Amino acid sequence: MQYIVMDLEWNQCPSGKGDEVEALPFEIFEIGAVKLDCNMERLDSFSCYIKPQVYKELHYIAKGLTHVTQEALDAGKSFADAVTEFFAWCGAEGEYRICTWGTSDLVELQRNMKYFNITSPLGHPLFYYDVQKLFSIDREDGKLRRALETAVDMLGIEKNIDFHSAISDAEYTAKVLACLNFNKVEGYFSIDTYIIPQSLKEEIRVNYGTYEKYITKGYETKEELVNCTRLLSTRCYLCGQTARKKIRWFTMNSKMHYCLAECREHGYIKGRFKIREDDNGKFYASRVLKLTNELGAEEVRQRQLEVRKRRREKRQKKKA
Ligand SMILES: [Zn+2]
Repeated sequence: MQYIVMDLEWNQCPSGKGDEVEALPFEIFEIGAVKLDCNMERLDSFSCYIKPQVYKELHYIAKGLTHVTQEALDAGKSFADAVTEFFAWCGAEGEYRICTWGTSDLVELQRNMKYFNITSPLGHPLFYYDVQKLFSIDREDGKLRRALETAVDMLGIEKNIDFHSAISDAEYTAKVLACLNFNKVEGYFSIDTYIIPQSLKEEIRVNYGTYEKYITKGYETKEELVNCTRLLSTRCYLCGQTARKKIRWFTMNSKMHYCLAECREHGYIKGRFKIREDDNGKFYASRVLKLTNELGAEEVRQRQLEVRKRRREKRQKKKA
């Protein structure tokens, strides 16, 4: 297995949201990547500029953040050529895994490919490494998300090139990845959901040991989704037995849903799922079931009390 550490730079509508092309809020203008072997040794790099076709001038954020010039972009390749060359450089599908800093690069890459009608060679389900998350799991609490430069500083990596070009950020991300205890973080791959499961058969369940992730297929309406028994069931992911619900699913803001269950063998399991909408307007959920202790169970109880209190207050306000 090789690792393709990728970073993208993108532009947005220079005259503001009002003139934005809805299907392409961010247009990629630079692809940078570093290839590492299975021992995290650097093998090669890839770098290219792309001539913008939608937002032809740089937005002030992109102008301020990156060091790219309008001339360099105008001399760039077409997006189709750049992406084709990039994937040819990556190698055969299944022989490499993409690594990015954060969760947005793969989404924007696929959105740009869709907009420009380019068939994606990326397989599904699409597993990748979010190095920002791996850094947190290895060095911090697993929840904190640091800026790339902060992680570079924390690891004492030499800062000999400027940040915020695709190739420099890919180089730094690769260096961060190479510093991590890979045996410890290897199992924590992320799942990209730009393309969601198209059928029941394609639904994704991954057991990470201390928690299980489940991604449903898409539904036309939120109602269909939140009434789907597979989503609401709290079967223990360790033994397969039904964990009895202690607190049934409830919601705080109609996006995040929580519950508490108890497996006879493994104890408390807390559940949460979030309703999301894909680019085609379909609703799907990403659910996590996680083993927990008395303290974790109490947190769910408190959250439910809080929701009830808020509802009561709302009702009283209405009456008054
Ligand atoms: Zn169990």
